[in-house]
Parts: sequence; structure tokens; C-alpha cells
Amino acid sequence: MIDFVSTRAPTGPGLALSEALAQGLAPDGGLYVPRAFPRLDPAIFQETTLVGRAVRLLAPFFAGDRLEAELPAILAAAFPFGAPLCEVSGAGRSYRFLELFHGPTAAFKDFGARFLAECLSRNLEEETTILVATSGDTGAAVAGAFHGRPGFRVVILYPDGRVSPRQAHQLGAFGGNVETYRVSGTFDDCQAMVKAAFQAPRPRTGRKLASANSISLGRLLPQMTYYADAVLRAVSSPPLAVPGGRADAALSCAARSSDGAHETSFVIPTGNLGNAFAAWMARALSTDTGRRLPIGTLTLATNANRMLVDYVTTGAAAPAATIATLANAMDVGAPSNLERLRHFASDRAGIAAVSVDDAAIAATIATVFRETGYAICPHTACAVAAAPADFDGVFVATAHPAKFDTIVTPICGPVAVPTGLAELLAREAHAAPLAANAEALLDALRG
Ligand SMILES: *Cc1c(COP(=O)(O)O)cnc(C)c1O
Repeated sequence: MIDFVSTRAPTGPGLALSEALAQGLAPDGGLYVPRAFPRLDPAIFQETTLVGRAVRLLAPFFAGDRLEAELPAILAAAFPFGAPLCEVSGAGRSYRFLELFHGPTAAFKDFGARFLAECLSRNLEEETTILVATSGDTGAAVAGAFHGRPGFRVVILYPDGRVSPRQAHQLGAFGGNVETYRVSGTFDDCQAMVKAAFQAPRPRTGRKLASANSISLGRLLPQMTYYADAVLRAVSSPPLAVPGGRADAALSCAARSSDGAHETSFVIPTGNLGNAFAAWMARALSTDTGRRLPIGTLTLATNANRMLVDYVTTGAAAPAATIATLANAMDVGAPSNLERLRHFASDRAGIAAVSVDDAAIAATIATVFRETGYAICPHTACAVAAAPADFDGVFVATAHPAKFDTIVTPICGPVAVPTGLAELLAREAHAAPLAANAEALLDALRG
């Protein structure tokens, strides 16, 4: 069995995976990491589906845990949608995208949130409130993942006026066991309120609280799986409709195969470093004969918030005040998962990082659309802008462009809305106002 330790006490006593999932953050303020990486199961190279590969990849992390036998069912329930690898081309250029936005809330956070929900609901001991602060996409993914689940109530805080209009609508559209609050403050205020609630004594919070934020292992581990799936994929996915309806655009899903001989490099839109760190972990695993997943260089594409770029290029970096950008889900001044990267990777080998400003984001959305007819979201645009023109790896597409229509539509014209998002947008939305202080949140939690 492998156990999980805090980054701040790596030689201290460890926890079983289920306990680490339930706790979220370690009591000493550190992040849970596996004490040592387990071996990669060589049987992963024979699997042919996302869920099959995911089971092989994650089973060693679940070894000895009480959820071990349920892992295949957890993954099958969490990932009913895929992560297609698509190639779009035109004007003499082509781009490959790993589309991670086919889940119900149209951003990659569905993978982590749904996996966490499957794990927590199988270990549920008492009525629990999932409390989450969001800068846009996390809240909807978590709400969607826990919506209608017996025993759970979800409380979402978002900064009023600081998420995209469609993100705001989506956050308020769930109803049922999901309560949404628009806080008259910033995302940092929302996070501080959540932190204070977790530190408050139990009688002041009503039910037991659990966290679903991006430092949770239950969101990190499942994000490894689509990188393994992408580099091992040998068969094509069904063709996609052309977003925006440009019939002359050449769009097809790639049947590129990776037989293990070729490494695939990724450029990953990065904010809190959850998604990219998962790719790093998948690359770090090896079988007992030294065989690895063919994952090449990982380039972290940030917006104007450049702490990670400073860290990767110089080895040192200080947290900075958050800068608001067009890629709002990546507006993070002090990425929390950097603590995990520092814990494992002293040499930063095979990692690059590039910061992209708003002008380049808008220009890149326009260029890719003009060349290929394929619309990308502002976060995905950071990835494309971060790479040289002759890059032959894969851009990670973290959200559907329709989620950011106020930015994308003026550049590309109307973008077709995916079904899950359309259903939420058709519902009435409600978010209650909340003052930006911990007392107001504690009152709401008990109410
Ligand atoms: C959250 C988010 C990111 C950043 O992911 P991290 O794991 O925080 O680095 C990028 N793009 C979109 C669309 C997101 O919602």
C-alpha cells in the first residue's frame, strides 16, 4: 500500500488515500503527495480506452485503500465522456488539440470534480457540505458533480462581476442541493472566507465541511489519465462538428498513433498548476523495467500572471497580486500546486514556461480561426501563443469557447453551444448576494 504525506512533513506519518481525499488540505497547511511514486503497471500499454488506461494508471495509487475494488466503477461513472485528440488545419498550418471540454460543464475540471464526487460519496459517513470558492469553472464542475447526490449540500462562492456572464449563469442554474452566492469582493476574498469557515469550530458551520478545491488529491490524480490516454491512443475518435459552422474548414480528428516510440509534447494552459502537474506526475511514473509513458516536454502557458514562468526559468519566484486577464480561470498570483512541484522536482527538467498577454490571446484566437475555422477559448489561446510555429506536439484545450462567448464571439462569430452548457443556460439562475466576510458565510452555512 502506498501512503500519502504532507509536503511539509514528508517523513512524518502517512494517510491512506481515502483519508487524504476526505481532508483536502493537510492540517499543517501542506498538500498531500504520495510518499513515493508507485510503479507504472505495464498492462496500461495493452489497454484501448480512456477508462481502461485510467484504471491501470490509478490502481497502484489505490492499492490497499478501502476504495481499491471500486476504482473501475468510480472511473466508469466519472468519465462517461472522452478526451478526443483533434487535428485542425488550413492555410498551410495544422494544430492538434486535446479537447478536455466534453464533460457536462464544458471545462477540464469536470474530470477532477466528478472523480472526487464518486470517491467522496462512496466514503460518506454523515451529511456533508462541499464548500468551494471559484474564479469561474471549478464551481460549476463541482456543483455538477455533486448535484442531486444524497447526503451532500454544495455551497459555491464566486466574486460578483468577475466571472464571464455565462459562467455566472451556469453557477446559479443548478438549484436543488446547490446554493450559489455572489460575493461582493474578489476571488481572494472568497478564498479567505472559505478558509475561515474551515477553521471555525463545528457548531458554527452546521454540517461537516469538505473541500473540493484544486489542491485536492481527488482532483489531481484523475487529471493524469487523459495524458496517458492521449499518448497511447491508436484509434481515431469520431469527427467533430465544426464550431462556428465554417463548412470549408478542414477539420478532422487525428488518427495519429503513438506506439510508445514517439514522445508527445504538450503545451498546457496553467493557473494553479493542477492540470500541468498531473501531466508531470504521469510522465514521472515508470514500470519496474524502466518503461514510461511517451510524454515529452511540458510547456506551462500562463497568462500575465507569471510566477510559474519565473520559477521555471530561474528556480525562484515570489507570489504576486493577481492580475485580471482574458483567461480569467488562470488568474492566479500564487499557484498552490507549485508546492507539489517543488517537493518532487528539484531540477525542473523537461518543463518550459511562457507567459502570454491579453493582446496575444486575442490575436491568437483570431489567427487560429482565420486559418482553420476552429474557435478556441482564451485559455487554450495561451497555449497556442506560447509555442513556436513549428511545434508538432499537442495543445491542451481546457474549456469550450462557448463558455467565453463575450470574448470569442466578437472575434469568431457565434459559437455553437454544447448540450450540457445549453441546458444550464436555458434554466433560470439564482445567486444570493453575500457580504465579503466570514461571519456572513457562517450564517449562510447554518441557515
Ligand atoms: C482552471 C482552468 C485552467 C487552469 O488550470 P490549473 O489546473 O489551475 O492550472 C485553465 N483553463 C481553464 C479553462 C480552467 O478552467
